[in-house]
Amino acid sequence: MDFTISDKMQTVLGMIDEFVDKELIPLEPEFITHNFSEMVPVLKDKRKMVKQMELWGPQIPKELGGMGLNLVEHGLVSESLGRTPLGHYVFGCQAPDAGNIEILHSHGTKEQKKQYLEPLAMGDIRSCFSMTEVDMPGSNPVMLETTAVKDGDDYIINGHKWYTTAADGSEFAIVMAVTNPEAPTYLQASMIIVPTNTPGFNLVRNIPVMGHSGDDYASHGEILYQSCRVPQKNLLGAEGQGFVIAQDRLGPGRIHHCMRWLGICNRSMDLMCQRASERKISPDGKTLATRQIVQQWVADSAAEIQAARLMTLHAAWKIDTVGAKEARDEVSLIKFVVANTMQHVIDRALQVHGGLGMTDDTILAFFYRHERAARIYDGADEVHKASFARRYLNRYGKSGK
Ligand SMILES: Cc1cc2nc3c(=O)[nH]c(=O)nc-3n(C[C@H](O)[C@H](O)[C@H](O)COP(=O)(O)OP(=O)(O)OC[C@H]3O[C@@H](n4cnc5c(N)ncnc54)[C@H](O)[C@@H]3O)c2cc1C
Repeated sequence: MDFTISDKMQTVLGMIDEFVDKELIPLEPEFITHNFSEMVPVLKDKRKMVKQMELWGPQIPKELGGMGLNLVEHGLVSESLGRTPLGHYVFGCQAPDAGNIEILHSHGTKEQKKQYLEPLAMGDIRSCFSMTEVDMPGSNPVMLETTAVKDGDDYIINGHKWYTTAADGSEFAIVMAVTNPEAPTYLQASMIIVPTNTPGFNLVRNIPVMGHSGDDYASHGEILYQSCRVPQKNLLGAEGQGFVIAQDRLGPGRIHHCMRWLGICNRSMDLMCQRASERKISPDGKTLATRQIVQQWVADSAAEIQAARLMTLHAAWKIDTVGAKEARDEVSLIKFVVANTMQHVIDRALQVHGGLGMTDDTILAFFYRHERAARIYDGADEVHKASFARRYLNRYGKSGK
C-alpha cells in the first residue's frame, strides 16, 4: 500500500481547503434557510471560480474538462469538500451526476455522449438515477416492477419509482427497467436514458425527508412513469446489462461517499473541540473540555475517524490497483463502518453543543438530519454485513444463503 500524496496533490488539497473555508462555509447559513433554487445563482459564480482555478470535476476525465484524478486522489479531494454540504456541487462531483458521468463515459454511444455526457460534465445540466421503487425492496434490486416494452423503434416505460435524488430540474433520468423478463434474473434489466420532458415522466412530488421536501438539486423525487415513450437508441449499454453497469458504478461511488462522510466527521470534530474549549460550565471558568466524558468523546472520535479513513483509502487504493470486483469485501466493510462512524461523531458533536446543537445556527443539525440516510442508501448496513459475512464464511465452508 502506498498512500503518498504527491507535491502537486498537496498543493491542490491546500487550494481546495482554502476555497471551502473562504467561499463555501460562509454561505451555509443562507443555504440552510433558503430553497436550493435561490442559491443556484451564487453557486454558479462559485463554480466559475473553481473552473478558473482548474479544479473543476476532480474525478471527470480530462478530455471532458475535468481533472482526471485517480480514486485515491479524488477520495482526498472528496474529504476536503465534504466539510460543507456545498462542496461537491460547486466542484462538479456531486451524486448522482458523478455516477451518471462515469457510466455514460464507459457505456454511452457517441450520440449519447454528445447530447448528455458533455453538458453534464461541464455542469450545464443535471441528471438523476431512477432505480428504487415504492413497492419493491431496494435492498434486493433485482426485484423490479418497472418495465420497458418495445414498440416499433421505441421503449414504453411504466413504473413507480421514488428516491430519484435531484429529479427536480434534471434534464434526464437514467432509469432501470425490466426489458428481458425471461432472461436469468441478473440479465433482466436495462438502463435507459429518459429526458424528463418526455410525456409520461411525471414527477409526483419531492418526498419530505426528515421534515424537508427540498427543491431543485437538494430533493428526492417520486416519479410515475406512465406509458413513457423513448427511442430505443436511448438504451445505455447493452440490453439486459443494467445490473452489470450498476455494479461498475457502485464501487467507486461508495469511496466518494465514504470520503465525503469523513469530511463531515472532520468538520464535526472541529466544531466539537472548538465548542468544548470555549464553553465555560462552572463559575471558576472551567470549560467542557476539562470534563473526562468530553475528552473520551474526543479520543474515541479521533480514533474512529483515523481507522475509518485508513480503511477507505485502502479500499480506494485496491480499486485503483486491482479493480472494483477484487475490492468488494473492502468496499462492503467501509460502507457500514464509515456511515456509523459519521453518525457517532455528529451525534457527539451535537451533544457537546447542547441546545445550540439542535438549532440551525451550526451545520450539525443539518448533518444529523441529512446524513442518517447513509446507513440506508447504496446498500443498507445489514445488507453489506450479510453479503460480506457470507463471502468470508465461505472460506470456511458453505455459509448458506
Ligand atoms: C437519501 C436517499 C437518497 C437516495 N437516492 C437514490 C437515488 O438517487 N436513486 C435510487 O434509485 N435510489 C435512491 N435511494 C434509495 C435507496 O437506494 C434505498 O432506500 C435502499 O436501497 C434501501 O431500499 P428500501 O428503501 O426499499 O428498503 P428495503 O429494501 O425495504 O429494506 C428496509 C430495511 O430492511 C433491512 N434489510 C433489507 N435487506 C436485508 C437483509 N438481507 N438482511 C437484513 N436486513 C435487511 C435494512 O435495515 C433496510 O434498511 C435513496 C435513498 C435515500 C434514503
